[in-house]
Amino acid sequence: MKISTRFQNLPNREGDPWKIYLRAKELEAAGEPVINLSVGDHDAPTPQFILDEAARSARMGNTGYAALTGTGALRAAIAERATVSTGAPVSTDEIAVVPGGQFALFTALSAVLNPGDGALLIEPYYATYPITVRAALGAPVLVPSLPDRGFQPDLEALDAAAPSATALVLNSPNNPTGAIYSRDTLEGIAEIALRRDLWVISDEVYDSQVWEGTHLSIRSLPGMAERVMVVGSLSKSHRMTGSRLGWLIAPKPVMSLCWEFLVSTTYGVPGFLQDAALRALNQGAETERDVFDTYKRRRDLAVRAFEGTNRVKLAPPQGAMYVMLDIRQTGLSGDDFAERLLDQHRIAVMPGEGFGSAGAGHVRVALTVEDTALSSAFESIRAFADVI
Ligand code: PMP
Repeated sequence: MKISTRFQNLPNREGDPWKIYLRAKELEAAGEPVINLSVGDHDAPTPQFILDEAARSARMGNTGYAALTGTGALRAAIAERATVSTGAPVSTDEIAVVPGGQFALFTALSAVLNPGDGALLIEPYYATYPITVRAALGAPVLVPSLPDRGFQPDLEALDAAAPSATALVLNSPNNPTGAIYSRDTLEGIAEIALRRDLWVISDEVYDSQVWEGTHLSIRSLPGMAERVMVVGSLSKSHRMTGSRLGWLIAPKPVMSLCWEFLVSTTYGVPGFLQDAALRALNQGAETERDVFDTYKRRRDLAVRAFEGTNRVKLAPPQGAMYVMLDIRQTGLSGDDFAERLLDQHRIAVMPGEGFGSAGAGHVRVALTVEDTALSSAFESIRAFADVI
């Protein structure tokens, strides 16, 4: 029996970005204590008042097929939030509620790519991007952003690669680098998108984790709203990773075809989780502040821990719940560093190469354990780097 080329093409040829994470999980399953700083999942559960609302809604009988693109009330709450966060008016009929930001990415790419069309990805990229582009039958076109430029995209390189692409995926605040794209950068990208007639898919799932400066959405720049799709989510802002609650904001011509796409794929997000999401948006200000304070504090802790170190360098991230450690001075690749750190210290971090070759010589640390354990992990990482 044959398997489609689409499926066969999905795996990354460069290797498995989740290798260390999976090894860490195996060690944990075998009873070994591991400090897991690999994936971006919170160390605290979804807040009780959100879970209570999910349970209340389900017990009241909201267990049937749900509003396919999201209830009117939830889309209205998202529209209100997104109008503020993207800096341009968003109406309820430009929103589809989908199972997580990840599915919003797949929806957006599926909406604009024909088989073989290029999608520009800025390296280091969020690890699912190349797979998601291939799942949508497109071809990733990689454009590096380099550590020595603070991981800001290289506009000339983007422009040079643009003729082979239909879409450009942006992610600011950025996972894994923590970079926030400056106004100049975003204006330059907007100019390229307009001149080269590109769709822009702006992944803004970290828009509430800004440590320096402010979040600026490319959607707010002149002439961009009609060619920008925004990916949003409650995963990071409200500790709701497991609820799979995200959304896509897209111009009406895309939205008018979303119903068919969603009915043929997810069949919607469970109604009781949509109610829980509405509660999170309406009454979650304190939760959001707590999430913000937690990661900001840990980010500052990381910056202090690696101040003045020679073999591990940390350029203070401007946003998002990660830090990228530059370990080039150790002479090891990110892969080898991460493997040996897990072997010798039982600390799991993501090799930078998993985010594309521009991440080489780096490892990404997710700030996802409590402060004391995090500090002692940083000490171990420093000591480990000094002896290799
Ligand atoms: N985009 C980025 C940049 C991410 O880091 C993540 C999750 N780690 C997602 C999208 C997907 O988030 P979710 O599907 O949980 O909303």
